[in-house]
Amino acid sequence: MKPATFDYLDPASVEDTVGLLAEFADEAKVLAGGQSLVPMLNLRLARPAKLVDINGVTGLDHLGTDGGELVVGALTRQRLLEGSRLTTGAWGLLPAALHHVGHAHIRNRGTVGGSIAHADPAAELPAAVCALGARMVVRGVSGTREVAAEEFFRGYFTTAVEPDELLTEVRLPRWPARSGGAFVEVARRQGDFAQIGVAAAVALGEDGEVLRAGIAVAGAATEPVIAGDVVEGLTGRRPTTALVEELAGTFAAGLTPPSDLHGSAAYRRQLVRHLLPRAIDRSVRAALDAAPA
Ligand SMILES: Cc1cc2nc3c(=O)[nH]c(=O)nc-3n(C[C@H](O)[C@H](O)[C@H](O)COP(=O)(O)OP(=O)(O)OC[C@H]3O[C@@H](n4cnc5c(N)ncnc54)[C@H](O)[C@@H]3O)c2cc1C
Repeated sequence: MKPATFDYLDPASVEDTVGLLAEFADEAKVLAGGQSLVPMLNLRLARPAKLVDINGVTGLDHLGTDGGELVVGALTRQRLLEGSRLTTGAWGLLPAALHHVGHAHIRNRGTVGGSIAHADPAAELPAAVCALGARMVVRGVSGTREVAAEEFFRGYFTTAVEPDELLTEVRLPRWPARSGGAFVEVARRQGDFAQIGVAAAVALGEDGEVLRAGIAVAGAATEPVIAGDVVEGLTGRRPTTALVEELAGTFAAGLTPPSDLHGSAAYRRQLVRHLLPRAIDRSVRAALDAAPA
């Protein structure tokens, strides 16, 4: 199928983009990498009257550090972040998660901001930014605001970004030196969306105790599920196999994941029970390999 008719708009600046979004709001859709939006247009699941292409907008594809934070422009291609030397320590969770996103050619076009704004419940990046405690920078005509990851995802394909706003940047806080991150998932085929994916980041103290942790699960609800109780149970303690398995079991039992053709709710709970300890174990190993505390 071909998309329904739309007007194509290609602003050159963030100011012009938010001006257009304010003018057309519900009628408009932002086009970033097009890896989710274009199939939706072709299937006529999305029928915007105006398509606002941000690929020519300057100042949206930066990748660097600022005051110790990792700063990723919304238009940064997923593949660029995946291969970045900046993703050390807990930020190593980002390339680990991106490795599971579709295939290399999809990540060449797909943007970091597009994946986060799209908010597929089974997508890897939304869970990763939740685990890392990121803040999303959102711009409208009246100014810029920052939204913490735990407030950003509001349900099925829904975020805190209003129709007249643009996601411009993702800011990831610095983690302690001795930290590591990992993403593990089960999908039906390599490159498919996760049936369940677990994003984990762990920072260790001198005695091997958990100083800080972040854990979020993709595919278990309409938005990433942050495993706050598991983090609380780990903090200040050594992440022994027995402790992690006990915490994972209790957390998994409390989930109400969807049941569909790809797996029942019970199966998904079972995946969480097994994948969560694996993600923590890999994060701990990565932290032990990192610089000393
Ligand atoms: C075959 C295939 C397999 C895939 N597999 C996976 C997978 O396993 N895991 C996964 O996570 N993803 C997967 N994807 C999706 C891919 O990650 C997309 O790149 C991503 O979901 C959207 O990013 P995009 O830049 O292409 O955004 P687009 O498709 O251009 O936009 C997606 C949505 O986000 C909005 N949007 C985009 N940028 C902004 C912004 N800056 N501010 C506000 N709104 C914005 C758009 O209006 C649109 O509603 C797959 C895609 C394909 C085609």
